[in-house]
Amino acid sequence: MTEALSPSSSDQIQDELLSLVRSVKGQVLNAENLYVEVDWGKSLPPKKKNSNVTKYHGDPLKDLLREVTGCQRCSLAKTRKNIVFGDGNAAAKIVFVGEAPGADEDAQGLPFVGRAGQLLTNIIKAMGLARKDVYICNILKCRPPGNRNPLPDEIRLCEPFLKQQLQRISPQIICALGSFAAKTLLKTEIPITVLRGRFHTYEGIKLMPTYHPAYLLRNPSAKKQVWEDVQLIMKEIELSERSYD
Ligand code: URA
Repeated sequence: MTEALSPSSSDQIQDELLSLVRSVKGQVLNAENLYVEVDWGKSLPPKKKNSNVTKYHGDPLKDLLREVTGCQRCSLAKTRKNIVFGDGNAAAKIVFVGEAPGADEDAQGLPFVGRAGQLLTNIIKAMGLARKDVYICNILKCRPPGNRNPLPDEIRLCEPFLKQQLQRISPQIICALGSFAAKTLLKTEIPITVLRGRFHTYEGIKLMPTYHPAYLLRNPSAKKQVWEDVQLIMKEIELSERSYD
């Protein structure tokens, strides 16, 4: 006679099976990518109960957003169309930090909504998540004209907003997208090729540097390394969830 499973143990088995499928699928994607590009369109199955999202009460970013709105700290205030504060879940376990808004982001007031943004969205989906499960922001909140590199003074004046944002979200992991974000957050000149692939620490939070999606658009073969980096992130999240079981 087979014993009926309680709803919680059948949920647990289902979660474990999903996680197994996910890791096998990751291996398959990786194996495929020894020969072909990563197809970010092939997303891993989303978790039934999204345990990567923590519920929170109230918006911890509300008053900070009010403070940033209308910011005149640097000259980018004169050329921007919109401030790009950030987007997503303010209680997320993963925060992606990019460099600065581009033309599409400036026009819409949202981070990563252009071509590089579409690729980031696919990476997030391939992690089995959706944009609403994570938080996405940039080092600079305003677009540098012509997408030039941010200037040291612009970073100095804007960085306190990011620091506050990260402190209030208090994620388990920060993923720094590209050389600029990684070097700014880690206060280092070490190249991204050396930094990526392992965890560093930012204000007590684990930080994984990886290549910027815009770089991946120009160098598709680097998708394989980004896939490895985001898998390390997912493993870390899963390990921490298991230790609470
Ligand atoms: N590149 C970035 O670094 N940030 C964006 O928001 C868009 C493109």
